[in-house]
Amino acid sequence: MNPNIPISFEFFPPKTEEGLAKLHQVHSALSERNPEFFSVTYGAGGSTQERTINTVLDLHAKGIPTAPHLSCIGSTEDTLHALLDRYKAQGINRIVALRGDLPSGMGGSTGGDFRFASDLVAFIRHHYGDAFHLEVAAYPEMHPQAPSFDADVRNFVHKAEQGADSAITQYFFNPDAYFHFVGRVRALGCNIPIVPGIMPITNYTKLARFSDACGAEIPRWMRKQLESYGDDSDSIKAFGLDVISRLCEELLANGAPGLHFYSMNQAEPNLLLCDRLGL
Ligand code: FAD
Repeated sequence: MNPNIPISFEFFPPKTEEGLAKLHQVHSALSERNPEFFSVTYGAGGSTQERTINTVLDLHAKGIPTAPHLSCIGSTEDTLHALLDRYKAQGINRIVALRGDLPSGMGGSTGGDFRFASDLVAFIRHHYGDAFHLEVAAYPEMHPQAPSFDADVRNFVHKAEQGADSAITQYFFNPDAYFHFVGRVRALGCNIPIVPGIMPITNYTKLARFSDACGAEIPRWMRKQLESYGDDSDSIKAFGLDVISRLCEELLANGAPGLHFYSMNQAEPNLLLCDRLGL
């Protein structure tokens, strides 16, 4: 495998000082794999926003570019201006631009200036020109709220037309879903790189919960095998490593332009995958 395939790792902002100290260790270990960038998630509607900003600035200062995720739902133009100005002043030059989800209980009313990620992309391009490389989200198995697969593909292409430079996908376990999505996007004349998001498998219960929430399908054969391991976490990890490394190999062999790892703030599963893949 070509060791120069671009890779990136995603973190979530830690809640405690202890979590932050651990994240620094994980960051150092993953930095040795020479990622193109790290990214840090952001909670729409408030809760984790300040922690994201602090984590991004902290990690960015260590040398490898760090991209904040930025969701726009429920935000005003003024708030986002202030945040983007702050990022720009600190030398941040890549943003993962998202709509986000409103916390439950907000009754579907956005109370903000933006409806879709495409609005955020257009806003950033309009006010900041090319100061930021803009990543957007893609859903090979369709965004759960989209009225149809074709509508979702068109909405994705619209984000690119508004100025997105590249995309990271929701995780998936079926490579055909990725290739089908990319094919439909290309057929509409959109050529931005679409980097598969890769979820290492370390814990079946958490993975099943997560996958239900975000609309990622765990194929039946995988579920049945994972269920059969019960609490045997070594077997789950070994199986996960086999399945995910094969997935990555197939994606890269057939044209995926890089890999984005949902690191879950852990070093080991990601390093094992990189070792298997020769990255
Ligand atoms: P959009 O691209 O706006 O799409 C949302 C829905 O609206 C889709 O169904 C789409 O088809 C539809 N749509 C889009 N445009 C239009 C239009 N013009 N008219 C009608 N319908 C339209 N969430 C967080 O809260 N924090 C994070 O840090 C975070 N990071 C993520 C990173 C990645 C790589 C991915 C894949 C997802 C991430 N998410 C994050 C989850 C994301 O916020 C949710 O999936 C959210 O529901 C959609 O965000 P989006 O940017 O894809 O939205």
